[in-house]
This record gives sequence, C-alpha cells and structure tokens, in this order.
Amino acid sequence: MTLLEVRDLTASYGVAQALFGVDVTVAQGEVVALMGRNGMGKTTTVKAICRMITSQGTLRLSGTDLHPLPSHKAARLGIGLVPEGRRCFRDLTVEENLIAAARPGEWTPSTIGGLFPRLTERKNQIAASLSGGEQQMLAIGRALMTNPRLLILDEATEGLAPIVRQEIWSAIARLKRETGTSILLIDKSVKELSQVADRAVILARGKTVWAGSFADITPDISESYIGV
Ligand code: ATP
Repeated sequence: MTLLEVRDLTASYGVAQALFGVDVTVAQGEVVALMGRNGMGKTTTVKAICRMITSQGTLRLSGTDLHPLPSHKAARLGIGLVPEGRRCFRDLTVEENLIAAARPGEWTPSTIGGLFPRLTERKNQIAASLSGGEQQMLAIGRALMTNPRLLILDEATEGLAPIVRQEIWSAIARLKRETGTSILLIDKSVKELSQVADRAVILARGKTVWAGSFADITPDISESYIGV
C-alpha cells in the first residue's frame, strides 16, 4: 500500500524555482533513500512534504492531500521529521524532550531507551550538555515519540564520529527489521544506505532522474548523479 505519494512536485523560494517535477513514493514498511548531489532539491522536497514551504503537484499521505495542511497538521497526520541540524529543546532534560513530543502509540521513553540505551543513561541530563551524536539520537527519539506513520531523516549522520554514525545506522536497521517503520532517508553514505534502503530515488536539478531498487544503482548512475 502506498503511504507517501509525491508526483510532479514543484516548489520555489520566491522567484527561484527549486523543484521542477519530483516523484517519490514510499510504500508501507518501505525504506526509501532520497539521493543526489548537493543543492539538487532533497531538503526542499522534505520541506514541501512537511508543509514548511508551498508547492504544487500531488502530495498525499495514505491518500490524504497534504497541500491544504499547515505543518503542525501534517505532523499530526503522521509525519515525523528529524530535520538537518538535530533540533531539540536545549534547556529541557532528555526525558522532558521525549515527553514533550509524545503522541499516543507504542513509542514511549522506555521503548526509545531500548533503541538508544544512552538516552536512558542520560535521561536527567539537559539536552544542551549532550554530545552531537546523543543529540541526534534524541532528535530521532523525539520524532519516534510522535508515533509517526512515516519517519523522515534528513542527513541524520552528518558530521558525526564514525562510531556514533554506526550506532545510528544500527538503530535504523533495527527500526526497519523489528518495527516495519516506513522511512524516507536522505544521506550521502551510499554504503550504509545500501544496507537499509529498499529503493532509491535520485534527484538532479530539482527533478527525479532515476528511481528503482537500491541494488540496481549501477556505477554509471552513481557517477552521473550521486558523485561516488
Ligand atoms: P544538500 O545536500 O546540500 O542539503 P539538497 O539536495 O538538500 O542539498 P536543497 O537544500 O533542497 O538541496 O536546495 C535546492 C535548491 O534550492 C538549491 O539551488 C538551493 O540553493 C536552493 N535553496 C535552498 N534553500 C533555499 C532558501 N531558503 N532560499 C533560496 N534558495 C534556497
């Protein structure tokens, strides 16, 4: 069943058009990698899905048109975003951050602690005092606490130490394996993406130029559109 349906999406920043026809679908339980070089429209696509910028085209979650919704209503419909830059409430504790995001469902501070034990160890610490990796785990935990139907991770491992990146990739693999969470994933680590992503959608100059099974990305496609 199609959970997210994005077709022929266009969007602009003022007079500068950034998206020229993006097509992305995520089926229930699927992990889809949104790829492409810098500045090709990945974050803009995420902003449109989350209703942070205006856009045109088809944009549906489980058949519901997202276009008329403000961002908080899109979130309430079941889109959990981990934005670039790991945002959380810096002056609240880890546990307070998780509780502040909570909506009814299976995810609780205790089940989040099962995914990221460090968050349980640090539950009374204020977020500002966490390491970058721990703040990223908290940002993912906060998004999960909304009990989303679709989790979107925008550069979740960017700028982190290799060992912490590995912890986050393991958590994403567990999410897929154990909970069947539907995930749209933006990242530049092709090797790690290949271990969790079912499919890839590649953007170039604000347009979908390739979509298919992750395993079908040939060296030519990779070189032309991803730069690896
Ligand atoms: P990166 O991997 O560098 O994050 P991206 O694929 O996510 O890149 P976007 O951030 O979506 O790319 O940018 C797409 C285009 O929109 C680029 O040409 C960029 O310069 C432009 N753009 C992005 N944000 C803004 C903004 N706030 N105002 C004006 N133009 C913007």
